[in-house]
Amino acid sequence: MLKRNPSDFTLWKKSKAGEPVWQSPWGEGRPGWHTECVVMSQKYLGESFDIHGGGIDLVFPHHENELAQATAISGKPLANYWMHNGFLNIDGEKMSKSLKNFFTARDILAEYDAEAIRFFFLSKHYRSPIDFTRELIEEADRAVHNLYSALKAVDYLAHRSEALEMDEVLTGLESEFVAGMDDDFNTAKAIAVLFELAKRARNATLSYAERLSSALLMVKLGDILGFFSNVEAKLSRKIVDLSAELVELIISYRNKARESKDWAMSDQIRNDLGKLGIEVKDSPGGSTWSMKE
Ligand SMILES: [Zn+2]
Repeated sequence: MLKRNPSDFTLWKKSKAGEPVWQSPWGEGRPGWHTECVVMSQKYLGESFDIHGGGIDLVFPHHENELAQATAISGKPLANYWMHNGFLNIDGEKMSKSLKNFFTARDILAEYDAEAIRFFFLSKHYRSPIDFTRELIEEADRAVHNLYSALKAVDYLAHRSEALEMDEVLTGLESEFVAGMDDDFNTAKAIAVLFELAKRARNATLSYAERLSSALLMVKLGDILGFFSNVEAKLSRKIVDLSAELVELIISYRNKARESKDWAMSDQIRNDLGKLGIEVKDSPGGSTWSMKE
């Protein structure tokens, strides 16, 4: 089909050999991809639907052209909300097959806990680009551990059916969570509330009822973000899964040795952890650790 205007986009494409073919008044071919998207989404979701997603690179021309066609057909908006996510970069570079830094969700799930990966993505705003590094995933994994350790601190599994009692502080934290999510899915803000609740669940100066309710609210809100779906299995983990917590514990003893200027002990702990492939780094803000490559 001929263009009448240089800015017209393709509605019908001549098929190449091996491609699916349909008959049309303009000869054999197939719809252009802007058309394909509109037809498929309207068939399954209706003339107008709520949310249309896609990568930030699809805003123009793809989504612009989808919208133009749909509006021309029905006179209604195609979607109430258009949401565009930022790119995923790998170690500072765009993920691409040619750079060989390409992996699938399945690959990464074989290596890391699903909740750590979920946490990693939710810790940034969905519209921002996000940089994937092993360090950041391991950091996310430790953060998730932190939430679970708060559940352990209140013996969550034994008390989870008890009533959640909302006091003023918890009501305030819940509103903060909701306000964050209402603000174009500010999941980083919502996650900060989960940490605040984890802190309360571990806070020995609060009553047990207050600590338990904090934990119960953390699970209720975390569930909205897809956390804690497997809480039973996670909390009854075997010792092999405790390694991150054990390292934290050993490092806390080393910190005590450093506080009392027992440098010999502090160095010995660092060297011994080093032999196990665990690298400890000291900075004015405290000690961090990571697995050596
Ligand atoms: Zn599309």
